[in-house]
Amino acid sequence: MTDCIFCKIARGEIPSKKVYEDEEILAFHDINPQAAVHFMLIPKKHIDSLSGVSADDVPLLGRMLAMTGRLARDQGSPEGFRTIINTGRVGRQEVMHLHIHVVGGAQQLGRMLPARN
Ligand code: AMP
Ligand code: ZN
Repeated sequence: MTDCIFCKIARGEIPSKKVYEDEEILAFHDINPQAAVHFMLIPKKHIDSLSGVSADDVPLLGRMLAMTGRLARDQGSPEGFRTIINTGRVGRQEVMHLHIHVVGGAQQLGRMLPARN
């Protein structure tokens, strides 16, 4: 996916504030943080969304989820955090490259969803 912004970040063509990187996974700070701690984990390979994962992706997704706690603690969210995966139109996904938001900090977050509107 040549035009995908997160693919470009994964390839280092667009700079990011890196939190973690290995061969398959990159974590970097959200450019528009919604809390004191807000970073995202992405697979380096392009996957559109959680709707588009295959059975082959299961170990990768498991590894991404399994490292959120350690990274969140390292980033200053030792007492918990929230993981968010926005998916598709209904989930208001803006960047069509699968990403796991990790949101937290010292302060307790708001409720999971705002009141319906
Ligand atoms: P989503 O609505 O789940 O697709 O969220 C996309 C997120 O990507 C938003 O929180 C944006 O602030 C973030 N974002 C967009 N462009 C960049 C970028 N170049 N570097 C870091 N975060 C970005
Ligand atoms: Zn991509």
